[in-house]
Amino acid sequence: MYDELYKEYINILKKNKIKITYVRQCILKIIASRKHFTTSELISELESQMDTVNVMSVYNNIDLFLNLNLLLANSLNGKQIVYEAAAPKLIHINCYKCKKFEHINYSSIDEKVSEVLKPLIEKFDFCIDYFKLDVYGLCKDCRK
Ligand SMILES: [Zn+2]
Ligand SMILES: [Zn+2]
Repeated sequence: MYDELYKEYINILKKNKIKITYVRQCILKIIASRKHFTTSELISELESQMDTVNVMSVYNNIDLFLNLNLLLANSLNGKQIVYEAAAPKLIHINCYKCKKFEHINYSSIDEKVSEVLKPLIEKFDFCIDYFKLDVYGLCKDCRK
């Protein structure tokens, strides 16, 4: 799974005639792991893999990958930016007390949401490429 996504990213770079540098490979591997990460988390992860990390180039590469639509930015509480691999269907649960922010990975839910959304959105003469759904509430610990 992880390798396939990574290979797909490398192909996107090739197709766009973008140089496949070592730092880009490292960042794409992290994105392909489908975890959530902030810029500072990305930088410290890279620092564990490389001798020197050029912070400016990390920012530039984030912009590049956002423009290529392979990376997605989520803003938490309107402040912190959390990045993740772009996916056609993303459903998140957010706890507004402890700020827990997680994926729900049930393809059956994804399919049901798609089924409900599609006819609604088509009324606006719009074709869905992907959707992202953020669900807010209180987690188990915060309800105690
Ligand atoms: Zn919570
Ligand atoms: Zn996510």
